[in-house]
Amino acid sequence: MRARFRQIALIGGFMAAMLFPGELARARGFDVTVLGAHGGLEDGNLSAYLVREQGTDVGVLLDAGTVMNGIEKANAAHDFDHLALPNDPKTSRTGLLIHHVIQGYLLSHAHLDHVAGLLAVSPDDRGKPIYALPSVLSVMQDDLFNHRVWPNLADRGAKPALGLYHYHDLFPERTVPLSSTKLSVTAYPLSHGAVESTAFLLRSGSDALLYLGDTGPDALEKGDRLAALWKAVAPLIRAHQLRGLIIECSYDNSRPDSQLYGHLTPAWLLRELAALKAEAGVSMKGFPVLVAHIKPLLTSGASAEDLIAAQLQAGNVEGFRFLIARQGLAVSF
Ligand SMILES: [Zn+2]
Repeated sequence: MRARFRQIALIGGFMAAMLFPGELARARGFDVTVLGAHGGLEDGNLSAYLVREQGTDVGVLLDAGTVMNGIEKANAAHDFDHLALPNDPKTSRTGLLIHHVIQGYLLSHAHLDHVAGLLAVSPDDRGKPIYALPSVLSVMQDDLFNHRVWPNLADRGAKPALGLYHYHDLFPERTVPLSSTKLSVTAYPLSHGAVESTAFLLRSGSDALLYLGDTGPDALEKGDRLAALWKAVAPLIRAHQLRGLIIECSYDNSRPDSQLYGHLTPAWLLRELAALKAEAGVSMKGFPVLVAHIKPLLTSGASAEDLIAAQLQAGNVEGFRFLIARQGLAVSF
């Protein structure tokens, strides 16, 4: 499965090179490894996307629902065979990967399927920044790293603040470098039912990659946060700098709107992508969309992944290149 998607990604890159000659010369691109793909139910496989500037050994984790199990699954799939790790015979390969490849955490929101892996690994982690909007960091500080739910390993909140992790507040539309990597990030707030969630626009040289945490469609969230995000990234699409999108599609189309709780279905995702295309004003044919945060079904029959993939393809009039996220999948954007 991993190889097939890698092959698709490579073909896509080749197609992009043909479509936009000269672009690859200054393109740096991104390597994304799916450490956790699902949006609930399956402990050990919850939202976590490792992103590195293409060809480099270090990066950041976009959400952290699963950390250690995801590293082990991706390592077993040979995703990290080519990485240079320090020579430290006292630390396991999993430990080296967690300590040295993940140089920081970007949290879209503090729901457990986005932070549980971080909590679990934290006592044996190395000091790192945690980047998020203030509304998200306040939940981490008050409700999780508070010495009641979990020891306070961060540098604010319940005393003693042990200070292993450094909270780094992000502010909407303000770009900051990501420490110890060659990446930078700009945060955009999203509406996810009752909570604020976040989209992260990552930059690597002139290239960009957009990751969205959980989000509902504007029409149901009764807001315009996705519209504002599409407006912000449209110029990057026109300039051929946006390499792809990682976005949620939690439920298949049989889920009623009244039970989406701030999430997307294929029909709503296609509608939002049509809005993005309209804002960009250019063809989106072949544009890569990694479909994330699918909630597994406990019913017999077709899997949630198969249902959602089929429903997305059936309505794909714009020709987006959808890939379904699976744990251990490595995608080059
Ligand atoms: Zn959520």
